[in-house]
Amino acid sequence: DQAAALSARLFGKAFPAPRAACSQSPDCSANGPQARATVPGIPEARGLNPSLLAQLLIPLIRGTGDIPAELRDGRLRAEMDLLRRLSRPRLEVISPNIVPRTPTFCPGCPHRDSSSTLLELRRNLKDPQYMRRVHNRGPVDLVAHGDTGCYTMLMFPPTEQLMHNYSGMGLGGGTGSGIDPFITNKQIVFMGDGTFFHSGQIAISNAIKANQDITFIILENKTTAMTGHQEHPGTELDVLGNRSYIQDIESIVRAMAGTSPLTVEKLSPANREKYRATLERTILRDGVKVIIADKECGITYYRRQAREERRLAREHGGFVPRKTYMNITPEVCENCLECTGATACPGLTVIDTDYGRKIDTDLTWCVNDGACERVRVSNEYGTSVKPCPSFEQVTVIRSRRKRYSLPKMDLDKLPDPVPVHEMGRPGSTWRVHMAGVGGMGIGVVAAILVRAGHKQGYRVVFSDKKGLAIRNGGVYSQIAWVNDRGDDASPGCEQLYPITGLIPHGRADLLLGVDILEAARAIDPREQFRVATPERTAAVLNLHKQPTVATLLGRQDFDPEKLRDEILQHCHPDRSYAKNLSELCEQRLGSKQFVNIMMLGVAYQLGLIPVSASAIGWAIRDTIRRDQRKNIKAFNIGRKLALEPRALPKKPEPLTWQQLLTNKSRVLRKTSWTGKLAAERFEKLVTAAIRNMPDLPERSKYDLALRIYDLMQYEDHHFARRYIELVRKVYQSDSGLRHFAATHAAIWGLAKVMLIKDEPYVAYLLTRYEKKQRDIAKYGVDEANGDRIVYRHHTRPEFSFGKRRIRFNITTTDWMLKIVRRMKWWRRLPGWHAREVAFRDWYIRLLDRIDLQNDYDRAVRILRSADEVCGYREVRYPKMDRVRAAVEAELGSLGRRSS
Ligand code: SF4
Ligand code: SF4
Repeated sequence: DQAAALSARLFGKAFPAPRAACSQSPDCSANGPQARATVPGIPEARGLNPSLLAQLLIPLIRGTGDIPAELRDGRLRAEMDLLRRLSRPRLEVISPNIVPRTPTFCPGCPHRDSSSTLLELRRNLKDPQYMRRVHNRGPVDLVAHGDTGCYTMLMFPPTEQLMHNYSGMGLGGGTGSGIDPFITNKQIVFMGDGTFFHSGQIAISNAIKANQDITFIILENKTTAMTGHQEHPGTELDVLGNRSYIQDIESIVRAMAGTSPLTVEKLSPANREKYRATLERTILRDGVKVIIADKECGITYYRRQAREERRLAREHGGFVPRKTYMNITPEVCENCLECTGATACPGLTVIDTDYGRKIDTDLTWCVNDGACERVRVSNEYGTSVKPCPSFEQVTVIRSRRKRYSLPKMDLDKLPDPVPVHEMGRPGSTWRVHMAGVGGMGIGVVAAILVRAGHKQGYRVVFSDKKGLAIRNGGVYSQIAWVNDRGDDASPGCEQLYPITGLIPHGRADLLLGVDILEAARAIDPREQFRVATPERTAAVLNLHKQPTVATLLGRQDFDPEKLRDEILQHCHPDRSYAKNLSELCEQRLGSKQFVNIMMLGVAYQLGLIPVSASAIGWAIRDTIRRDQRKNIKAFNIGRKLALEPRALPKKPEPLTWQQLLTNKSRVLRKTSWTGKLAAERFEKLVTAAIRNMPDLPERSKYDLALRIYDLMQYEDHHFARRYIELVRKVYQSDSGLRHFAATHAAIWGLAKVMLIKDEPYVAYLLTRYEKKQRDIAKYGVDEANGDRIVYRHHTRPEFSFGKRRIRFNITTTDWMLKIVRRMKWWRRLPGWHAREVAFRDWYIRLLDRIDLQNDYDRAVRILRSADEVCGYREVRYPKMDRVRAAVEAELGSLGRRSS
């Protein structure tokens, strides 16, 4: 009987909802007309997805053998089939693609300065050689604690070693104190200022009393950031916003010391060198030590800065006269991942170039706090060394308002869409699942749709997951619109209808994937959502790749195109849409931040959002107070793109070697008075090389032509010719049956070792024509409108005189580098980049030692070994040594075996 009752409530006619449950729901007023419902089934109680319940209950009901008549119409079977289908793990396809997205500190977070310095310091303290040399003592392994606050992010990659355990708010210090009597390690405890006042100070007091050996690192960022920037006793205002007394952390800690020899230091973690030295000195001392890292929360600081920019823009009639960005030059970047490994900043991104994957700054997310540029590395070749010269400050100076750069699109004459969903029938329900990453504006789109639904007269219920939103975590929102205005609905709360937006499995009508990876999670059988079915769900997807922390660290990767294919298999193919709208948005509107609204426009124009133009227009204006015009424009551009996918075509890039030849010849002719001669030589070299290696695959020909160009720039056409001869040597022993894999590896490997990134070459790469054109496009610089772009390159030249080395960390300008790029004669100096030169010559000699005829795979592996060498000097040298040793061992074992 019980099972029959349950089954009737699950899938039978609408049953009266228990009054108690209904009236407890915050959505149910039980007082007004909005509280009526017409949707049959179980109530979608907050936090409980009915599909999960159905999955458990249906087998139970069917097991009773006495199924009520109204459930014998196949509905149970159909529901179970749907649940099984959506839960079936097609994991062999899906699992490699849907990688986890772990949270991290926000761009601009002062914790990043601390953690990045601690990562370097921790490595050094563990290194016996370093400790012997610098401190004349054995290695020190730190035990690290944290608790609840923004610094909880330390638990996740790449800083797991900085927070070994998690207890509860304010309890990190207590955990340190608790284990102190049982270990000899030095300990560090991270704490925020909010936590210090909440309960953290008790642990410091206790540690002082117990004379323990712990360093407390308190980040004083002047707010309780984790929970939404509330005031605390150390801030100027009280919770009501009134001026109040300020308690000073440093004075409190000093007062706690009493008669103990407590060490207290207060300084900014942004001053990396001083901060590192202070940490090292302090941690190695015995007893309780407190370091107060004094730097404002990135969010409050950059909000203030954004307000100031808006004020400036108003003052100047719509433009900011001067704005500085952090830039990475991909040609100079070696993808050594030192910067991402030390910061994991979401302001950094990965890009694919003709020289492989590189790191770049993301214009929309980077706040230019310089933490990635301040990263330093230490290894057996040196300590606290700047890893590369790729970073630079780009300042865009404008004297006028930006000119309108969009083509004529007639955005005011867009036709009304034809709705896909019929919402006229009482009880009709429309559901949307929106997925993105914190900062992409999922909450904003949800707020717009909630307002639009209300405006249209629907019953609206929704569910948001925000959580670690601003810290690069996944965010989703689910909304249901219900037409509950029919005559057949009973008054009051006596009928059931969705009281939460949680979407039962397979019931989403629209999947709005502002982030493709998070959208894929919505269909992943391993996750709780499983919202899509091909019969019902249309997908609107953004193909932009927003890297996860693991992607930035080079540990995991995903392919947006593969994810798209996977998602579209679960959705209605004819109603779905996928495009890299973020890229388009940044190119045309100066920032990716409007992409959410652009996608809303696409979905609306495809008829996938059953609401009137006036309701959604009103909702956008009512929700978004700032940049309203730009948002409305983004919405209309989205609508236009749904109608005409090619309305905003991308600038064509050369794809074939012939196109590259034309393109680069044009650059050569344009950029130098000897350009005509250089272009002719380049054309001759490339055409002859390709004539001599006609069977190479097209991709290899393109790569070869590009590297010939770069080698000419590096030195001259003789040097490029030498490269071609070496490649040809491999080609002659290679075969089309093997797809010329060895020649392809040689094209890449030889260029990698021959293009030594020394001072003149780096200076060239930082100032070359192609780079400037790319930056002009990236930063929306319109030179014809009076805009200018000014560079400050954070370079680090080094000169060796015999055994002496002189290194500068120096900020250079373009004119300086333009002089340096001409100093190719430095390469003739004795000892100039001796280790890189030795590696190059060793690699070239390998061509005579590999055996393409008899051991092709090994030969290819050896030729590819150069790819593993990346970075500059201290970062590069150990890799060169490792690769060389591994290849020599392999060749040696081969020699031994054959003899
Ligand atoms: S070379 Fe290394 S440290 Fe420099 S930008 Fe590239 S990945 Fe980052
Ligand atoms: S400057 Fe570097 S660390 Fe700072 S926000 Fe930009 S990318 Fe992140």
